[in-house]
Amino acid sequence: METRHLPIASRIIPLALPKGTEKLCELCQNRAYLQCAQCRVTFYCDATHQFADWVGIHEKICPLLVPIRTETLESFSKEGRIEKDIKKVQRELIAIARSIAEGKLTEGKHEEALPAGQTCLHFCMDVFGPCSIQLVPAYLLLAEGYMGEEGSRRLFTAELLSQAELSVSKNPDCGHDLHHRLHRSLGRLQSIMGDLEGALFNYANDIYHAAEVYGLDSTVCSNGYFLLANIFAKQGKTQIVRSMYNEVAQTWNSHLTKLIEPFLENPTASLEPTFDKAKQVEVDKILHTILDFERHQSRKEHALMALASLCLSMLWFMGGDRVKARDFGRSALQSSQMSPNQELSTAVQKLLDLVETRPQTSEAKRSK
Ligand SMILES: [Zn+2]
Ligand SMILES: [Zn+2]
Repeated sequence: METRHLPIASRIIPLALPKGTEKLCELCQNRAYLQCAQCRVTFYCDATHQFADWVGIHEKICPLLVPIRTETLESFSKEGRIEKDIKKVQRELIAIARSIAEGKLTEGKHEEALPAGQTCLHFCMDVFGPCSIQLVPAYLLLAEGYMGEEGSRRLFTAELLSQAELSVSKNPDCGHDLHHRLHRSLGRLQSIMGDLEGALFNYANDIYHAAEVYGLDSTVCSNGYFLLANIFAKQGKTQIVRSMYNEVAQTWNSHLTKLIEPFLENPTASLEPTFDKAKQVEVDKILHTILDFERHQSRKEHALMALASLCLSMLWFMGGDRVKARDFGRSALQSSQMSPNQELSTAVQKLLDLVETRPQTSEAKRSK
């Protein structure tokens, strides 16, 4: 179990600071009363925001902030080299913040992604300037973070997304990847707000652009299809949903089968972690949604249930959880026996044999 040491904050008295040097909270930009006792260059309005920032990102970047926030203007002008070094640290900070925020969002922990998202945007502005197209990924990350919120804070999502939209419309040649990300975020917001037609339009565009970058059979595209299908599910269009979920499950099946293949040849091969925890959670959620959808239909498509269960079994095998892998493998076998697709039964049986023969000792460390 990981223990987290929150550094002691020292209290500051805002009114005692020289005029024009008032400190603002790192998270909410309100007047700050606390200072991080370790770096002494980061400030907070209260202990709650200090804690949220610490666990959200500050713990990982606290020492990196010292050189860039304590440089005086004098040393800036004296040596161009210092400025170059600072830019380097800032880029490093952007990369760290971006990857933390992306991980949290993939896991569905929107609120926890906010401090990293804010840090990312903050340093992107410093490095690229306030109007750069390079800010768009940071706008989108932060917008996705606020999307988990209710009420007035959700307005930030709309604001950030319209900033991103404006930037992209001014730079239409910014590349398919950025268009894909923007449309996906817009689709998510419209889905939350109940604008299903708007969401359909944006997800369709999202898939078009994602296919240009990653290919139609990529998992990125398949995640787009999944989101699109969820909208059709809200509209009660069962047949369309089913055919799209089928596509999604097929994509994951071929992706996971490729990962499993080396083990079918050599059951004792060592299990390298293929997915990080966030990705594992995301794929698990997608496959469970498909499975639940089919379970609630009066006339079930057993082949689709078998396929989704097979994918879950492979996913948990790769995650080192043999019990889950076996349970999903068994339900996959049951469903596949009720469907005419014999090819699937064979694949399931092979996997179950592998799960049974694999020695327990070489299992990957199970994450709690
Ligand atoms: Zn605050
Ligand atoms: Zn600090």
